[in-house]
Amino acid sequence: MKRVLVTGGAGFIGSHLCERLVQDGQEVICLDNFFTGRRTNVAHLLRKPNFELMRHDITQPVLLEVDQIFHLACPASPVHYQHNPVKTIKTNVMGTINMLGLAKRVHARLLLASTSEVYGNPLEHPQTENYWGNVNPIGIRSCYDEGKRVAETLMMDYYRQNKVDIKIVRIFNTYGPRMLFDDGRVVSNFIVQAMRSEALTIYGDGSQTRSFCYVDDLVSGLLKMMEAPAFTGPVNLGNPVEFTVSELAKMVIAETNSKSSVEYRTLPQDDPVRRQPDITLARTKLGWEPQVALLDGLRRTIAEFRERIWA
Ligand code: NAD
Ligand code: UDP
Repeated sequence: MKRVLVTGGAGFIGSHLCERLVQDGQEVICLDNFFTGRRTNVAHLLRKPNFELMRHDITQPVLLEVDQIFHLACPASPVHYQHNPVKTIKTNVMGTINMLGLAKRVHARLLLASTSEVYGNPLEHPQTENYWGNVNPIGIRSCYDEGKRVAETLMMDYYRQNKVDIKIVRIFNTYGPRMLFDDGRVVSNFIVQAMRSEALTIYGDGSQTRSFCYVDDLVSGLLKMMEAPAFTGPVNLGNPVEFTVSELAKMVIAETNSKSSVEYRTLPQDDPVRRQPDITLARTKLGWEPQVALLDGLRRTIAEFRERIWA
C-alpha cells in the first residue's frame, strides 16, 4: 500500500483517479481548493478508511509524508483558467515548485498533468512529444499553456539538478461523467445544450478538430505512467481518433435525441485549428492505448449528465 497525494483530486479527472486508487487499496490524500472541484465528486469516497480529503491551495507549501504525487491541480477549461489568469499562472508555477519541493524532501515520485496546449496552435500534425510547439506567449491562453510549459521546465530542472523522480504526461482533450455543466468545454457545453433543447454553440465554422479521450482510459494511462520504471516522459495521453467540432455536435444531437439546432459564434482568440496526439510512445513504453470509442464514451457521459440534471 502506497501513500498517494492527488492535487486537484476533487476535480473532474482527479476524482476518477482517486476512485481508482482507493479501489486499488492505496492510501489516498485528495488535496483541493475547490475552485472547479466539488466535494460531491468524492463524497462517495469519504467513508472509505483509505481516503482523506484536504482543503488546501497549492500556491502555499504543504507538509505531508507521501510516496507518490499525482499533480493535477489547475483549472483546465478556458472559461475557468481565464477567470483569474494571474492565479492560474501562480498555480502552475508556484504550485509546481511547492510539489517539487515536497517530492524532493520526502523522496516521492511526482507526476505532472501537463497538456496538449503546450503544442499551442500546432504546425506539425499529429503532434509527437519532440515537437516544441507554436504558442503565443502573451495571449489570453498563455496563463495556462505557458504556465504548463514552465511547469514542465521546472520538472526537468529538478530532475537534472536534484534527481527528483519525475514523470510528465501531456493530456489531450478528455471528457466523461462529472464534468461541470458550466465548464465551457465543448463536450459538456454541447450535452447540456442538447438536453435543454437549446442551440449548440459552434465556435468558428466547426471545421477545427479535437481528439477526445474518455476519462477511464486517461486514468489508466496516468496509473501506467506512474508505475513505469525509468521513464520521465513527456508522454502524450489521448485518443488519436480526430473529429471536427461539427461532427461532435451532430453526434451529441443524435445521441441525446434532441431537437436542438446549431448556431455559429466567433472563434475565440488563439483557438487551435487541429489537434491529434501521436501516441506511439505511450503504446511502446507503457503498453497503453484508449479502449473507449467516442460514441460509447458520449453515451456514458450523457447518461450521467441526465441523472445529475434532474437531481
Ligand atoms: P478540473 O478543473 O475539473 O480540475 C482541476 C482541480 O484542481 C479542481 O478540483 C480545482 O478545484 C483544483 N485546483 C485548481 N487550482 C488549485 C489550487 N491552486 N490549489 C488546489 N487545487 C486547485 O480539471 P480537469 O479536467 O480535471 O483537469 C485536471 C488536470 O489535467 C489539470 O491540471 C489540467 O490542466 C490537466 N488537463 C486536463 C485536460 C482535459 O481535457 N480535461 C486536458 C489537458 C490537461
Ligand atoms: N467549442 C465550441 N463550442 C463550445 C465550446 C467549445 O465550438 O460551446 C470549440 C472550441 O472553440 C474549440 C473546441 O470546441 O475549438 C474544443 O474546445 P474546448 O474548450 O473543449 O477545449 P480546448 O480548446 O482547450 O481544446
